[in-house]
Amino acid sequence: MLFGRGKKNPVKIADKGVVEWKYAACGYCSTGCSIEVGLNADGRPVASRGVADADVNRGKLCLKGIFEHELFTSAGRGLKPLMREHWHQEWRPADWNSALDRLHDEIRRIQAKHGPDSFAIISTGQMLTEEFYTLGKLTRGLIGTNNYDGNTTLCMSSAVSGYKRSFGSDGPPGCYEDFEHTDCLIAWGSNLPEQHPIIYWRMKEAQEKRGFPLIVVDPRVTMLAQNANIHLPITPGTDVVLMNAMMQVILKENLHDQRYIDANTNGIEALRAEVEKYDPVTASKICGIDEDTIRVVARTFAKAGAAMQIWTMGINQSTHGSDGVVGINDLALITGNIGKPGGTSLSITGQCNAMGTREWSSCSGLPNYRYLEVPEHRAEIAKFWNVDPEFFPKKRGMYQTDIYQAMEAGQIKGLWLIATNPLSSLPNTARIRKAMEQLEFCCVQDCYQDSESAQYAHVYLPAGTWAEKDGVMTNTERRINRITPITPPPGEAKPDLWIFNRVAERFNREGKVKFPEKASDIFLEMGELSKGRLADISGMNHELIEHSRGIQWPYTLEQRERGEAPPKGGKRIYTQDGTFSYPDGRAKLIPLPFIDNNEVPDDKFPIWLNTGRLIEHWHGRTKTGKISNNNKFSPIPFIEINPDLASDLGIRRCEYVRLVSRRGDAVAMAQPTQRVPKNMVFLPFHFHDCANRLTLGLLDPHSRQPAYKQSAVRIEKIADQKAAARLSMEMRKF
Ligand code: SF4
Repeated sequence: MLFGRGKKNPVKIADKGVVEWKYAACGYCSTGCSIEVGLNADGRPVASRGVADADVNRGKLCLKGIFEHELFTSAGRGLKPLMREHWHQEWRPADWNSALDRLHDEIRRIQAKHGPDSFAIISTGQMLTEEFYTLGKLTRGLIGTNNYDGNTTLCMSSAVSGYKRSFGSDGPPGCYEDFEHTDCLIAWGSNLPEQHPIIYWRMKEAQEKRGFPLIVVDPRVTMLAQNANIHLPITPGTDVVLMNAMMQVILKENLHDQRYIDANTNGIEALRAEVEKYDPVTASKICGIDEDTIRVVARTFAKAGAAMQIWTMGINQSTHGSDGVVGINDLALITGNIGKPGGTSLSITGQCNAMGTREWSSCSGLPNYRYLEVPEHRAEIAKFWNVDPEFFPKKRGMYQTDIYQAMEAGQIKGLWLIATNPLSSLPNTARIRKAMEQLEFCCVQDCYQDSESAQYAHVYLPAGTWAEKDGVMTNTERRINRITPITPPPGEAKPDLWIFNRVAERFNREGKVKFPEKASDIFLEMGELSKGRLADISGMNHELIEHSRGIQWPYTLEQRERGEAPPKGGKRIYTQDGTFSYPDGRAKLIPLPFIDNNEVPDDKFPIWLNTGRLIEHWHGRTKTGKISNNNKFSPIPFIEINPDLASDLGIRRCEYVRLVSRRGDAVAMAQPTQRVPKNMVFLPFHFHDCANRLTLGLLDPHSRQPAYKQSAVRIEKIADQKAAARLSMEMRKF
């Protein structure tokens, strides 16, 4: 058809036949976008769209959210429970009762034979909060193993540890609205446009309006670094040195906020003494940032009316991860940048409900940031759950990363893995494989039956995913949002909550401990337990949360009864003097001596290996590897390699190369780019049997989080390019 002058070709959007839109929060990253999934007349999910009146995303979605409805029908979903005697045998279908009885019997058999802590439970940041709470009650109150943790140790444990050390409790103090008030933003090891695209959009909008300086600390020229006013290409693993030098400049030049320090902190003298050792000249030789730039950045940050810091895995996934978070908090505290509009230290969380597990799973303690180490907390929860307080351990057990080493050493004999895939996500895959092979019993509960870890399972329990379930999740800015069941789980798969409740029945024959069936009732129980605490959610319920498109905690029953509407956004904590969670209400300024324990390049392995995420994929690709558009945009593993290094090694664009570390080797396609310096390659971590065959995964002493981003490799040419291409296509897997 021809159009006349001035007529425009009308835009047409494909009519997918949507007859109903249903509400949820996105199930990928921690941004917490509100999403609606469109169902056609057959009740089939056929479209996704952003929710316009949601404060977080204001109608927008990223590449993952846009195709999220395809998740429900993706390949590899588990439709039936499966069992076998040994992990190398064929699966046989089972009914739910037999599978759950076997899980119960194996837990008790192993505990009776080897002790209560010889059975470990590892969960995730992907489930809904009511499910985390129920699993915590079951594990802490009935099963009684202390070796219970989540895969959040791989992404957020340094942030949790750092917040606890500085402020006395976990809980990010800021919110997205801070971008609209800040006068200076430092992003430490965070590539927002690819990792948290909608937070990036919020930040960019604010920056374009107000023009605040953006300072990006990252060894790689990421997309965010390309937007920065100042980019600091730091030597991997040396952030603490840069922070100490910045603090020295701030304190020496009297740019600190003495009133704030006096009213709100302890420890300024010890901090001052430590940072004295890190003058910019000395620091520059370690962290690779020249002395003048250190001074300029320190002054810009300290002189800003309100200054904000964000960070992600570049800080957390390091042997100094927890110290890095404390350093960020120290910088914020000495300049009075906590709890005020635009002044905050905000960890950008990883998984969609990493915050929910931090708040309610009892992995690292007891619900709502209570500690196993505090007798009053144990007594309070024991009374509420109707269990014996003596049944609780007196301190937290192993972190996830230590559990695998205990499996290797024969201390842990049984494992229940829930919605996590350690064979893909843990460093040093060969070692994890050996550890899994030694188990007497392993149960994998997951929505996919083809996850790499399921090959070592004796029992497989098919679970529902994301909006096949009912409940809530908490995002990066402490906003609790609702997930409604959009479609039921396929086949005989069941929501995780249903599975936990059925397992609980087997450990709770007399019915002493109550396990509500409905997520909305569990949420109200959690609300009771939250009264008067930092994360008080007692004013919320499921309906109010959905109606408000998410509510930030705290929102108390008193506020609701006073007629105070739930906050629309912009809610901060530690807004008043003396409100930190330590008993005296003060935050701690903690000195950070730097000990260089990174694996560093040497003659044999001369190149830094940096790993990270791509916008198209989510973690181990168990989901996005099966969603056509996400996988098509990024189908195979590749390395970013500096053109000068590629030329020195005789490597051409799109040639396959072999990367070799002290742990193993991996094949990837070479993509020359100036985004990485000559002594570094960047490898996305999403592909199975690739990045984690190489990574060292040395653990942070405080958070036990692995250092994924600082390993050393060498690069070898591959003569047989066709064989390498076949191997690479194999790694596409889905
Ligand atoms: Fe989902 Fe995160 Fe994308 Fe928002 S930014 S749509 S929460 S993946």
